[in-house]
Amino acid sequence: MLDLKDLPREMARPAGVKPLTALQDRAVYGPIASRRLGLSLGINPLPVSYKFCDFDCVYCQYGWTPEKGTGEKLKTLPALLDEIEESFKFHRTQGTPVKCLTLAGNGEPTLYPDFLGLVKGLRELRDQYFPGVPIGILSDSSQAHRPQVSEALALLEERYMKLDAGEEKLVREVNRPRGGFDFERMVEALSGLRDSVIQSLFMEGSHDNTAPEALEAWARVVARIKPREVQVYTIDRGPADPGLREVPVEKLEEIARFCQAKTGVRSVVFD
Ligand code: SF4
Repeated sequence: MLDLKDLPREMARPAGVKPLTALQDRAVYGPIASRRLGLSLGINPLPVSYKFCDFDCVYCQYGWTPEKGTGEKLKTLPALLDEIEESFKFHRTQGTPVKCLTLAGNGEPTLYPDFLGLVKGLRELRDQYFPGVPIGILSDSSQAHRPQVSEALALLEERYMKLDAGEEKLVREVNRPRGGFDFERMVEALSGLRDSVIQSLFMEGSHDNTAPEALEAWARVVARIKPREVQVYTIDRGPADPGLREVPVEKLEEIARFCQAKTGVRSVVFD
């Protein structure tokens, strides 16, 4: 598969298409002002030289997921926590007004091998440097069935979980999961998570998950999961597939109204 990161960015993007986002170059990045999360420090437990994800979403801001890494190894847990602590010390000294710590970074954070150890260590550092500040995660939901991951997710204050479609065929088209992905297993795991927020990205153009039957299937799955909230949004940064288009905000609002009416779950648009 063509890896856009092998090409200079300007060669990889047709005219008029927003550029891809550069990978995070460290374990703690930001602070990032987010309408969803407030002023957040991002935590990246993943490599800094390539995207490390088990999805290959057509809209990914980091471009296509490479078939192979660069050889960069994941940091050991002590090394990772040391780097995080150094950064927390810096931000506390600077008086950075941190409202949230968010596990995300260059791919899927739950793929970090000792994810449970990471969450436990992060909670201790949070209590020491930013007491009372919630820790959240942006996850693609694919690993939520693993006992170690579900135990770690339960220790977080906020769980923002991806669900872009309600049927496996469309998930395979837009999220392009790798390896042993099992849609039903993912939905079951999401149903078992308490107090989660489902994030659903809608797109048009070369791929489209806004057809009436796709929305019906998606709302049926949302009703099964029973999240605390559904957040509906569209492409904001340059997507991996330059043929994608943003969904107009009026249509996003219609989708959110439809979801709330069908499921009873509060559904909001982030534009
Ligand atoms: S799950 Fe996130 S990081 Fe992974 S490919 Fe999709 S958008 Fe990119």
